[in-house]
Amino acid sequence: MDNGHRPADLPEHIRHYIDGEWVDSVSGRTFDVLDPVSNKPYATAAAGQSEDIDRAVAAARAAFTDGPWPTTNARGRAKVLYKIGDAIEAREDRLAELETFDTGLPITQARGQARRAAENFRFFADQIVALHEDAYRVPGAQVNYVVRKPVGVAGLITPWNTPFMLESWKLAPAIASGCPVVLKPAEFTPLSASLWPEIFAEGGLPRGVFNMVGGIGEEAGAALVEHPDVPRLSFTGETLTGQVIMRNAAAHLKGLSMELGGKSPVVVFADADLDAALDSTLFGVFSLNGERCTAGSRILVERSIYQEFCSRYAERARNVVVGLPRDPATEVGALVHPEHYERVMGYVEVGKKEATLLAGGERPAHLPEGNYLAPTVFADVKPDARIFQEEIFGPVVALTPFDTEAEAITLANDVKYGLAGYVWTNDLTRGHRVASAIDAGMVWLNSHNIRDLRTPFGGVKSSGVGHEGGHRSIDFYTTEQIVHVSLGTPHTPRFGARTA
Ligand code: NAD
Repeated sequence: MDNGHRPADLPEHIRHYIDGEWVDSVSGRTFDVLDPVSNKPYATAAAGQSEDIDRAVAAARAAFTDGPWPTTNARGRAKVLYKIGDAIEAREDRLAELETFDTGLPITQARGQARRAAENFRFFADQIVALHEDAYRVPGAQVNYVVRKPVGVAGLITPWNTPFMLESWKLAPAIASGCPVVLKPAEFTPLSASLWPEIFAEGGLPRGVFNMVGGIGEEAGAALVEHPDVPRLSFTGETLTGQVIMRNAAAHLKGLSMELGGKSPVVVFADADLDAALDSTLFGVFSLNGERCTAGSRILVERSIYQEFCSRYAERARNVVVGLPRDPATEVGALVHPEHYERVMGYVEVGKKEATLLAGGERPAHLPEGNYLAPTVFADVKPDARIFQEEIFGPVVALTPFDTEAEAITLANDVKYGLAGYVWTNDLTRGHRVASAIDAGMVWLNSHNIRDLRTPFGGVKSSGVGHEGGHRSIDFYTTEQIVHVSLGTPHTPRFGARTA
């Protein structure tokens, strides 16, 4: 099928970027990159191994020890970060077409990614300029001041959903903090990351501060995790991968930030604004093709409105426009990769045995090729069902009724994940009460996921370790050193001063 969707000037080969230069793997190894509409390879990419990671870390380490970036003052760094933000925004159209082509995200949703990525750089530029360092006084005895220093080379490992935006989320605070980086983008979607070198060059970032090594997680990713000269690792991806990384990073006692999987609940009470809840819960799980870590993929609905909610929800889901990612009318595009598609389709088959299928459950008839799934709605999903417990990461949602507030809270918390939660009610007191009873790093009351960049981002339980966002990201990439200054003559026991 000719979809005519291939952007102009696509690279045929994607290389690493080390110390200001595009390079292939030392071994010459490559892997194929597919587009999710045809599932045909459109490019090869250099497959990084430990020797490529060694080169990238050495370049980043030299940029750390020999400067100038780590010692550039905050205002100087902020100026560069602002220019980087502008360079990203100037590429909005190109970025959107590359992201849509490579990930299968609908073009209208890919378009917002450039603005969000640019905003991350501007936000952390402001943060770093406004950052204060503490001083502590012990009157007459000491003044103690805290120096905040970039911690060294940061290793950044990112997933394939909204790849460019999630990369920016780590790159911006790491670079703002003065840390040179080695980025290992996801192997399914390396295309948009190939824009970073020209963006950073345009912003004036010194050579060696940004390095990128592509490749398979178990090879390039694992080598970065195990490298002794990388004291901080920020990882976003699956919970299982996070567990492997924590084990492998232990040998060097690295600082880790882990943003992992989710299976987030939405609790809809009978007194909620039902129209708003429907709009929001449909968007919350079907936007970004359902490949969204904070997707509200379990909707718990008070029994008195359950039937009405289910039928209106299913009707809307059947109307969602599934189509070519580049078509502006498309609401759900193609899932990222055939391997992921198989996994999601496997869950759909499990769901058909475990629950009642209300909508979707199959490939739309008008899309015979590519990784398409009609938005899929299961009702009467029991809490022990796999589709209730496990992250599917596709356009699949589970609806479950509840009778009491206590039962809703139990159901919301009855999974291993704890990334996000959503509560819909017009009873203010109950809204706050239920929000705080949900075991999740982030809860939204009467809204889907809309973020304020200053706020903590991260999960609890199997959804993550540590929080990023706002000053927490700067905390992660810097280390605090305390300098104690004596103001008088400290009392010192005089060891060895006794005369015989
Ligand atoms: P993944 O864990 O398969 O891969 C993520 C990255 O880790 C990739 O770059 C991969 O190459 C690398 N990797 C894989 N094995 C590795 C290893 N042994 N050592 C080092 N690196 C390794 O995840 P994915 O399939 O790309 O992304 C989807 C997952 O990401 C979902 O579970 C989703 O919930 C999660 N996610 C979480 C957040 C969050 O903020 N909590 C945001 C987006 C996505």
